[in-house]
Amino acid sequence: MKKKFVPALFLLLVCGIHAAQGQNVSARPFNPQTPVAYPKQMGSILTESRLPLRLPQVEGYEVLKCDFHMHTVFSDGSVWPVTRVEEAFREGLDAIAITEHLEFHHLHAPDVNGEENLNREYEIAKETAERLGVLLIPGTEVTREVPAGHFNALFVKDGNLLKPFINTSDRRDPSNLTETLQAAREQGCFIFWNHPSFQHPRGEAEWYDIHEQLYQKGLIMGIEVANSNMYIPLVQQWAEEKGLTMFSNSDYHGSVGMQHGCYRPMTLVFARERSLEGIREALDSRRTVAFAQNYLYGETSLLEGLVKGSLRVRCLSSTPEQTVVEIENLSGLSFDITLAENGSYRPSTSACLLRGGYTTAVVLKNVKGASRHGQFKVKINNFVPHAGSVLETEIAF
Ligand SMILES: [Zn+2]
Ligand SMILES: [Zn+2]
Repeated sequence: MKKKFVPALFLLLVCGIHAAQGQNVSARPFNPQTPVAYPKQMGSILTESRLPLRLPQVEGYEVLKCDFHMHTVFSDGSVWPVTRVEEAFREGLDAIAITEHLEFHHLHAPDVNGEENLNREYEIAKETAERLGVLLIPGTEVTREVPAGHFNALFVKDGNLLKPFINTSDRRDPSNLTETLQAAREQGCFIFWNHPSFQHPRGEAEWYDIHEQLYQKGLIMGIEVANSNMYIPLVQQWAEEKGLTMFSNSDYHGSVGMQHGCYRPMTLVFARERSLEGIREALDSRRTVAFAQNYLYGETSLLEGLVKGSLRVRCLSSTPEQTVVEIENLSGLSFDITLAENGSYRPSTSACLLRGGYTTAVVLKNVKGASRHGQFKVKINNFVPHAGSVLETEIAF
């Protein structure tokens, strides 16, 4: 009798609670005039969900995601400067530079004050950038005829001081290019050569005499190894040979929406601190990796730093015949790897894709018997330390 009574009482209590709850809900009178308040989302970019590319810290450096080349309505782009900052915020970028064509500020002059004040796009974007924590670098694009081509000047102090160098009767006139870039240098600008194959008669990158002269004068400090996802191996070779800072930038002109897991071209900057000064010091010291279409182009030590910071490796099991190793990829980068045999291990598969955010197991056939610690050789096919070759490194567990 007692045994039956206890569950019955429990059941009664539970039903009672549910009934009471149900009663409360159904008792609330429906009023079509009562507004329903959802969590704040609409109209505020700050509350939007974002999915930035996750990158590791590398030996004391913060790896900053930067795009140093884009346009707005203040030259031949189609968006307002604030939009560029918001796009960057949505993608989780650390820094951008709006780099209007110096000579073509007049294009929308009837609509915006572009021809009068060559700093206007920066001034408009600055407040939003500060609010959203996006570092905004004042810049401009010096735009002259091929063979000279186009050059971005970053850290411009006053764009209006470059106005006298614009030939308004022939805006692409390359004759005073050296003087223009010299004036930018006198302002302390960092100057790099953009998209070197653009408008070349054969669509090739070519190092003309003018580039040699500019380079000798210290007026080419970096180069776009990739622009708008187009990578040119020869340009990476130049960067290595001549000690130029490598860039990959979007050169956006229109508005952009981000697709899940698909990131714009970026320059990854290995900075001592997340600030304009930190970025400048890293550019001067050539600590950058060009990132485009999940390929990474840069110095071996920087690429290896990204590999080591991204991968957490441990042994799952080891028998005399085989060792199973688990690789956890903590970053958003993907690693397209080829496993190579060494004196200790023979991988059971030669190729493996370590996708960003995923964990993958690798089976190694033991050459020298069981061991829970060791290392195996890999080639990372989307990490390019030199034009035409891929990163070869070891993964330890
Ligand atoms: Zn250009
Ligand atoms: Zn451009």
